[in-house]
Amino acid sequence: MGVGDILPAGESRSFNYIDTSAWGSPPADLCPALASDIRADVVVVGGGYTGLTTALALKEAGVDVVLLEMGFCGSGASGRNAGHLAPTMGRNLPSLVEQVGHERAAQFMRFNDRSVRCVEENLAKYQIDCDYEPVGNITCGVHPRHLAPLIQTAALADSLGVEVSFLTEKEMRQHRLPEAFRFGVLDPRGGHLNPSKYVMGLRRAALSAGVRVFENTRVTTIDESQVPVLVTTDAGSVQADKAVIASNGYTPASLGRLKSKVFPIRVTLFRTAPLTSQQLETLGWTGREGIITAHSAIEHYRLTADNRILAGSKHVQYRYGSRLAEGYQPSVFERFTRLLTERFPELPDLQIESFWGGWIGMTPDFLPLSFSNRRDNLYCGLGYNGHGIAHATSNGRMLADQVLGRPNEDVDLFKRRMIPLPPEPLRWLAINGMKRHFERADQIVDADLRLA
Ligand SMILES: Cc1cc2nc3c(=O)[nH]c(=O)nc-3n(C[C@H](O)[C@H](O)[C@H](O)COP(=O)(O)OP(=O)(O)OC[C@H]3O[C@@H](n4cnc5c(N)ncnc54)[C@H](O)[C@@H]3O)c2cc1C
Repeated sequence: MGVGDILPAGESRSFNYIDTSAWGSPPADLCPALASDIRADVVVVGGGYTGLTTALALKEAGVDVVLLEMGFCGSGASGRNAGHLAPTMGRNLPSLVEQVGHERAAQFMRFNDRSVRCVEENLAKYQIDCDYEPVGNITCGVHPRHLAPLIQTAALADSLGVEVSFLTEKEMRQHRLPEAFRFGVLDPRGGHLNPSKYVMGLRRAALSAGVRVFENTRVTTIDESQVPVLVTTDAGSVQADKAVIASNGYTPASLGRLKSKVFPIRVTLFRTAPLTSQQLETLGWTGREGIITAHSAIEHYRLTADNRILAGSKHVQYRYGSRLAEGYQPSVFERFTRLLTERFPELPDLQIESFWGGWIGMTPDFLPLSFSNRRDNLYCGLGYNGHGIAHATSNGRMLADQVLGRPNEDVDLFKRRMIPLPPEPLRWLAINGMKRHFERADQIVDADLRLA
């Protein structure tokens, strides 16, 4: 059966689903689990980009750091994501400006710029080869309805001092972008990388710097009401002067203090088999730019180093009670299978090889969180709303500066009063109501395209 065929009612197709990620497997040198009671200056919970960059920066400043990771470092979103390194903040630029005003949006744009550079600096400093292609990303319109918002985005970016180019249909064809993507806003900063190689590079750097890493070590409670802070795990504990929570979308309900600020959303990705040279020639896409669509619930596409198309998002899930939603979702896989044929009709033989996914940490205002408690012994960095390669990396540095009491120009940028998420069932209703609202706008566009 070919890709895109719809099965008769009642019949279900099986899909190749990877429970972890298609990017790679756990490291061969897994660190031992914590099995005793120990002491450190600082304890970091979570071994993704946030936790590892925080721990590295602290260790390099001479602090004794312990990092506790429930699985292996990179087993969360950092080792699973789509790899678009983009200077993006909020839902999209027009809504960001409307939400925070022109001046603060300009500050966020400068922060985005520093965040992308922060990743590039890490790659150079720790000599991390993660197949980084600094080709930029294009926010693309697939339907005439996307034209006005994209023209507005380009004009706003210009007024905020961000150098982007608006590409007309003719220019998109000159760039040899796939035909479904009609016009767009090219941001030349960043590009795409192999996220798992990036996080594994950070893990290696942290281990060689002397960060004490414990993997397969689940934190069950954090008690910051006493000095030192007491962090308890399944089989041991850490006493430390300060603790940093960097567990993002994977934060368990037992660490309840974040429950009113961040909620997990399940994001599904897929990749095709490597394209043949004939398929690549037909496709064009010679600039290999990352593609993000102008839908309300975005689609994104990129080529990998071995020339597969990797894509996803769009159909996301929130599960009641902020529990982590089941990953194997045939109906979502079916929709992506159909979507691929719609976006790449020039490649009728294209096959999806595997699906996987992970959880992102979302905030009600679509902005990242970085804050500390009143006692200054607990710090939290999370809620990147799907833009964490850049933001989690720079937030890690920012968290380390806060722990060390060093000045950091970005700290005040994230201070704000946030309306707390309501308890269930209101939360479920609010999140799914918003999701349906976004999906409805996209359905009009997509149905129209199918008719055309
Ligand atoms: C499918 C998908 C696609 C994405 N695509 C992109 C993209 O293209 N570009 C982009 O910029 N961003 C993307 N993101 C978002 C990005 O991956 C995240 O924002 C970023 O990885 C967050 O890093 P982090 O270190 O804060 O969290 P994570 O990488 O999620 O790390 C948190 C860690 O905490 C650990 N943990 C949780 N609870 C405990 C506990 N109790 N005890 C010990 N450890 C614990 C987890 O095991 C996990 O390893 C995507 C995310 C997903 C899921």
